[in-house]
Amino acid sequence: MKTEAIVVGAGIAGSMTALHLARRGVKTRLIDRWEPGHSRASSTDYNRVIRAIHGRDEFYTRWAREARLRWLELQAESGQKLYYECGALILATAGHCHWEDATAETFTKLGVPFHKFTPDEVAIRFPQFDPTGIAYALYEPEAGMNMAHRGVITAVDLFRKAGGIVERGHVTTDERERLMLDGKPLEADLIVVSTGSWMADMYPRTIKPILKVVGVNVLYTSTPDGSTAFDQENMPCWIDHGEGSFGLPSVEGSGVKAAVVIPDKIDLDHDERLIRRQMLSRTRAYIRKRFPGLVGQPVVDSKFNQIALTPDTHFIVDWHPEHKNVLLAGGCSGHLYKHGPVFGDFVAGVGLRDYGTADRFKIAGRRKLSPAESPSGR
Ligand SMILES: Cc1cc2nc3c(=O)[nH]c(=O)nc-3n(C[C@H](O)[C@H](O)[C@H](O)COP(=O)(O)OP(=O)(O)OC[C@H]3O[C@@H](n4cnc5c(N)ncnc54)[C@H](O)[C@@H]3O)c2cc1C
Repeated sequence: MKTEAIVVGAGIAGSMTALHLARRGVKTRLIDRWEPGHSRASSTDYNRVIRAIHGRDEFYTRWAREARLRWLELQAESGQKLYYECGALILATAGHCHWEDATAETFTKLGVPFHKFTPDEVAIRFPQFDPTGIAYALYEPEAGMNMAHRGVITAVDLFRKAGGIVERGHVTTDERERLMLDGKPLEADLIVVSTGSWMADMYPRTIKPILKVVGVNVLYTSTPDGSTAFDQENMPCWIDHGEGSFGLPSVEGSGVKAAVVIPDKIDLDHDERLIRRQMLSRTRAYIRKRFPGLVGQPVVDSKFNQIALTPDTHFIVDWHPEHKNVLLAGGCSGHLYKHGPVFGDFVAGVGLRDYGTADRFKIAGRRKLSPAESPSGR
């Protein structure tokens, strides 16, 4: 008998999982509350950083390297621009370089291309950056950015072309965490739940204790009139842990995305997706410090979105403890987007019981990791 599957949630996790199920010949329905690509999902916005930089964590480093190739394949197959290889720079703060030191060791061990630049070399190679306060920088040339919204739309299109069915609907859970749609139990051989941050409220017993949802404000600053210095051809993405920041150069006219990460409260269903006004001054202060060439440039766009953090920042791919056909897949932790094509393939294989999940993705036994152990440096 042919397996029938349902995937709930059409962000990057769900759309890539649905695509891989359909490509394995599984009759698959992909259900979302809103139109795929909508602005409340974490997988929205113009872009996301793709980099293999993961501290001492070899697992995600290898996944990110594989994901880069998969994105290139999807780009070639779809004819959609999904990936810009603009590189990524991690600025190692003087006195707090454990994560960056560990990343350099992992890169050397796994053969990931990188360069280590002194602050003076940073100022010459990437004059957009003021390197004050950094001990050194690691540059990963084969890193870059994914076009986030476009990636979801493309995955959903490819899923449809593979015979998949896309539906609109609000899937809920009852007091036993059983899945319901339109007042009836949701039934299939396999149900993958990839509802991102909403997974916490859908599973108050199983997931809420290990998923903390926070809002993140992101602002885009205009590039200077007549200058290409801050475009992705000339500037890499960056991570600036010492300043609690990361960002991406301008792409396709977006402006420079400089995110100062100050976790904020968010009501996923009811909040207006408008940034908090006080973030304007925080972002401007950061830009004054790190990007003197952008001082005085206006903010031209903004996003208010959410990430869902697990205690160890590992993803979740595990069976529901009571409902044996329900596989929970997500756990964003601020770094799932880039892994999308590899994550979806992996989840499809677990769902079809081709192999078990990885220990790190199990729901049980989560604990907070030290910044040195953490794959995200958090
Ligand atoms: C500001 C910001 C910057 C980030 N930067 C990076 C980065 O540089 N690199 C990177 O790799 N990652 C990054 N991330 C993280 C990454 O974007 C997320 O990990 C990833 O998008 C999560 O995808 P998801 O599919 O799990 O969730 P989502 O994209 O949120 O998708 C969940 C979907 O489920 C649907 N849904 C929810 N509840 C239901 C229901 N009950 N019934 C039906 N459908 C439902 C929703 O409508 C939504 O479409 C960033 C995130 C943010 C917010």
